[in-house]
Amino acid sequence: MGVVLYMKEGIGRNSEILEKMTRLKLMLALLTFIQIGIMAQEFKVKLYPLTPQEEAVIINKGTERPFLGEYTNNKADGVYLCKHCHTPLYTSDSKFDSYCGWPSFDQEIAGAVKRVPDADGERVEIVCAACNGHLGHVFEGEGFTKKDTRHCVNSISLIFEERKK
Ligand SMILES: [Zn+2]
Repeated sequence: MGVVLYMKEGIGRNSEILEKMTRLKLMLALLTFIQIGIMAQEFKVKLYPLTPQEEAVIINKGTERPFLGEYTNNKADGVYLCKHCHTPLYTSDSKFDSYCGWPSFDQEIAGAVKRVPDADGERVEIVCAACNGHLGHVFEGEGFTKKDTRHCVNSISLIFEERKK
């Protein structure tokens, strides 16, 4: 009898310890999971500092004055990056003359630009898919190019990197 009781107690204690260990492991797994999530968010996109003028357009969704932007008439061969996170957004191959006063592209680099309904309820806003920085607006059906799409982008939202020949 005594032996049986002892064994039962022993098993009871072991399963209690096992239960505690399992709970501890689950807690640790959960903490690791949360930590990885936070790290992934931190490393997802590195943001570079902006001047107040850049912030007014990129963060507060302003519009730079037409015909004054740095890249409106830029014809050089290269890539346009997001000013805030340096993600490549457009290549010079998709840039065309729209004479609207802002740089115009008929296609983004796949997946780099997100379309969202503008707060004005009419236009379609375009933002950097990586950092949500404001770029400008997209218009369709104007017939400028075969792709029939005009990404009207603020120069100040972009950084141009010339392709070295
Ligand atoms: Zn960005």
